[in-house]
Amino acid sequence: MNLIFLGPPGAGKGTQAKRLIERFRIPQLSTGDVLRKAVADGTLLGLKAKPLMAAGQLVPDEIVNGIVEAALDTATYQKGFLLDGFPRTVPQAQALDAALEHRGRRIDHVLLLEVPMGVLVERLSGRETCPKCQTPYGKDSPPKRAGICDKEGERLVVRPDDQPEAVRRRMVEYETKTALLTGYYKARGVVRPVDGVGSVEDVEKRIIKALE
Ligand code: AMP
Repeated sequence: MNLIFLGPPGAGKGTQAKRLIERFRIPQLSTGDVLRKAVADGTLLGLKAKPLMAAGQLVPDEIVNGIVEAALDTATYQKGFLLDGFPRTVPQAQALDAALEHRGRRIDHVLLLEVPMGVLVERLSGRETCPKCQTPYGKDSPPKRAGICDKEGERLVVRPDDQPEAVRRRMVEYETKTALLTGYYKARGVVRPVDGVGSVEDVEKRIIKALE
């Protein structure tokens, strides 16, 4: 199964993706996670991406397209994938289509997590993330011990792009670029809208129903 997760920042894509990959045994590919690791490792890619990410701006299409295309050829993603945070622009969606077609594959479902703006801003302003496994925690999904990752035992941090000014910028990027993807995929009948308001468990149930 080849899945795309679409939805604004704070919709719960990361949280739900981590649950779905365990349930369906398909690997997640998050361009945001790949880029954050590159920043942490101080690679050339990380050096290019760091200032853009911290400001809440998108990294150029060629860079993220390259990351995804390279991943599609690794053994990990041969049986399926869940793309989280990619594509984010129509040119990225077109590049993904071309790359998949070239490999005789296609997107089966595009999950669209729908959450009103007021809820998004509230969620992002209280969000903390594990610097090691990238698991996000918030009011709807708190860690067992305050400030500590359940899985890694690492101290949680606030991502630089979860600071208020960067959040505002990310919302604008979403509204002006990423929201256009809904129409792009709707034309193909693969969009599965899901109400993303409620507990993590309730939203997960709705997602599973939408995929059935
Ligand atoms: P995310 O974890 O998906 O919210 O991504 C964090 C940041 O990484 C974004 O705000 C962008 O700066 C960058 N990024 C991640 N995925 C993409 C993408 N598909 N296109 C451009 N920039 C991206």
